[in-house]
Amino acid sequence: SRTAIIAGNWKMNLGPQQASSFAREILPALGDIIRHNSSLMSILCPPSISLASVHKVMEAMPTPGVELGAQNMYYEDKGAFTGEIAPGMLKELCTTVILGHSERRTYFGENDELVNKKTLAAFAYGLRPIVCVGENTDQYESGETQSVIKTQIQQSLAGLSGEQASQIVIAYEPIWAIGTGKAATAKGAGEVIHFIRHTYASIYGESAAQAIRILYGGSVTSANISEFMAHPDIDGGLIGGASIKHDFVEIVRTTA
Ligand code: 13P
Repeated sequence: SRTAIIAGNWKMNLGPQQASSFAREILPALGDIIRHNSSLMSILCPPSISLASVHKVMEAMPTPGVELGAQNMYYEDKGAFTGEIAPGMLKELCTTVILGHSERRTYFGENDELVNKKTLAAFAYGLRPIVCVGENTDQYESGETQSVIKTQIQQSLAGLSGEQASQIVIAYEPIWAIGTGKAATAKGAGEVIHFIRHTYASIYGESAAQAIRILYGGSVTSANISEFMAHPDIDGGLIGGASIKHDFVEIVRTTA
């Protein structure tokens, strides 16, 4: 059975000082919960400028089962790419990187081809990619969810090796559910996630598809996480707004 993941995407919130205080606040509780539950892990994803300060806190307060992740990166090794961060730089601090979040796709022009390059680069550097997919409101309302998701999966996740194919994490985040307080239903999200696993199996085979974790994201709180976790295809959550509040601890506690 798959180890569940509760990941917190802090988005553009909490600079180095605030991020380290928040990490210091939640780590003991997260550690207590996860220590007694080996089938659950948690990943904190602060803004890149706060990775070092949170990393320092995590070194001072070792918390098995809690890891550090970034929200984005570039795919080149190094060089003249002003403002970007290389995979090897993240690897010094992080285990994980979120790629292709809908906010990256919508506001910063990221497409599947770019997300694919980043995904392959993450693996090349030993980072665990969490690749995000999801349809927007128009696509949802016109019944295009499956075709949109299928293209995103085929193109963003192309060219993985057999080993990589069983290690990827996918996050299904319907854009209409992000930051709106209108979460998908567990049944609806579960159906799409089942479809994602099926689509993935047609590319990388059934055993890889059964191995990978697929998370739901979009208005998850401690009040609804257990409904999502009850669905056999849903392996955890990618939490936005609630991840920078104490509710994140409650989400992890509810999942454990
Ligand atoms: P919210 O939990 O704020 O809806 O955000 C979800 C998300 O985008 C996580 O990556």
